Amino acid sequence: MPTPHPAIAELRAVLGERGVVSDPNELRVYECDGFPIAKGMPIAVVFPIDTEQVSAAVKILNKHNLAIVPRGSGTGLAGGCVSFGDGVLVSTSRMTKIEKIDITNRMAIVQAGVRNLALSDAVAASGFHFSPDPSSQRAATIGGNAATNAGGINTLKHGVTVNHILGVEMVLPDGTIIQTRAGQLFDGVGPDLPALLCGSEGTFGIITRLWCRLAPKPKHFRTVYAVFPSTADACKTVTDVIAAGILPTSMEMMDGAMIQVVEQAFHFGFPSDAAALLLLEIDGVDEVLDEQMEAMLVIAQKNNARDCKRCSDPARRAELWSARKKAFGAIGRISRSYCTQDACIPRSKLPEAMERINAIGKRHGLTITNVFHAGDGNVHPILLFDEDKPEEVQRTLIASQEILEYCIEIGGTITGEHGVGVEKLHLMPKLYSAATLQTFLSIKKTFDPRQIINDAKLIPSDKLFVELVHPVGMNMNVSGGAGA
Ligand SMILES: Cc1cc2nc3c(=O)[nH]c(=O)nc-3n(C[C@H](O)[C@H](O)[C@H](O)COP(=O)(O)OP(=O)(O)OC[C@H]3O[C@@H](n4cnc5c(N)ncnc54)[C@H](O)[C@@H]3O)c2cc1C
Repeated sequence: MPTPHPAIAELRAVLGERGVVSDPNELRVYECDGFPIAKGMPIAVVFPIDTEQVSAAVKILNKHNLAIVPRGSGTGLAGGCVSFGDGVLVSTSRMTKIEKIDITNRMAIVQAGVRNLALSDAVAASGFHFSPDPSSQRAATIGGNAATNAGGINTLKHGVTVNHILGVEMVLPDGTIIQTRAGQLFDGVGPDLPALLCGSEGTFGIITRLWCRLAPKPKHFRTVYAVFPSTADACKTVTDVIAAGILPTSMEMMDGAMIQVVEQAFHFGFPSDAAALLLLEIDGVDEVLDEQMEAMLVIAQKNNARDCKRCSDPARRAELWSARKKAFGAIGRISRSYCTQDACIPRSKLPEAMERINAIGKRHGLTITNVFHAGDGNVHPILLFDEDKPEEVQRTLIASQEILEYCIEIGGTITGEHGVGVEKLHLMPKLYSAATLQTFLSIKKTFDPRQIINDAKLIPSDKLFVELVHPVGMNMNVSGGAGA
């Protein structure tokens, strides 16, 4: 057993035995997130129960010059909550209190470790919900959702996490506690810091408490699915629906391989030879929904949809969405490991993008399957590979890079919702000018002058260098950092 780092005894003194994990065997659970290619072992993981404990732990980590990595549930898909180098994870998984529900003012105050769905469940009886609905919502924390500015199936109409966060409490990298727009139900005074923190991926501080907007749960829906002979036809339907002035809650697409995976797992009776499936939903005033649904179906049929089904039974509708949300998990049936890519492109480019993505997969000898938020132009090519074959991992990384570079080339961006983390850091200079990146770094340094928190994630650092393209199982190449 290696000698424990001197910070560990101090952390235990503040957080108690249950509040610190430092046994190397137990730490293995924390060596990656949902992006298994990037692995890194922390020195310890700490589990504070409130803001004051987060602040106390952060002060100890500062004293010992250890890097700080905020972590929610670890469902992230870009290696953002993984420690590369001498670092300690600060987990919010014991900060699960819903502190206040104020239906009159449509607001809830939660600790950062509250799971997304737990908040919606808590207010469901009042007819409200927390609108952001990532497919990982059973596990992902609201702090993690804010840090990644998570989207979801209903983002097209109802927006991403930033549109539903009213205020934030955060522990700065030196341990100072700040609150911004806390409890203000109208536009606050001064810079909109909650908006700046949403999507900052834990590079500015640790979010400890959030003031969340509660939205009335839509009561009336129409849900349809349509099957197409080609992905191009399905993509054209998406752009035509939007061009017709209809704003669906969701427009989700699966390609042929994905339909088969979902069918094997959930037995919906989707045709096994379909090339693409679109799942469309609208919500709103009951009286106008039938007309809009019929308009969408006419558009689908014009684009060669061969099988359109209305889904009016609420139980079947719930099953359908549950299957969509579990689609990623179902891939485990056909592949040992997979890398879920995430990029956003103009909707009008979807047909050619689907072709190009599959061609890139073929050229690298990789199977790529797709299930994605088509209405947002948010593509999720899923690259299947075997984690134990280093050469296959390299091909996966190279194919991913080519896909993302192509998305930039056609006017898109490298993430729609999963974030940049460490995975896509090397692509930031392809997306932004040197001057823009310098501005991002200056903002980070305002919060984190010592660059001690999640440095070299999201924003290229001038202090720490992390190189990703490496055979799997190896820790990433790291130099510089908190101790430098
Ligand atoms: C099966 C599956 C489906 C998914 N579907 C979606 C989807 O539909 N939409 C979507 O947007 N994402 C999706 N994701 C990705 C992921 O669930 C989201 O990014 C989620 O918001 C991460 O939450 P988390 O609590 O797991 O955060 P983590 O993975 O623990 O952390 C993610 C990032 O946020 C930072 N962070 C976490 N908590 C805090 C905090 N309190 N303060 C500051 N920084 C913090 C971390 O440092 C890291 O950079 C999916 C993931 C999986 C595995």
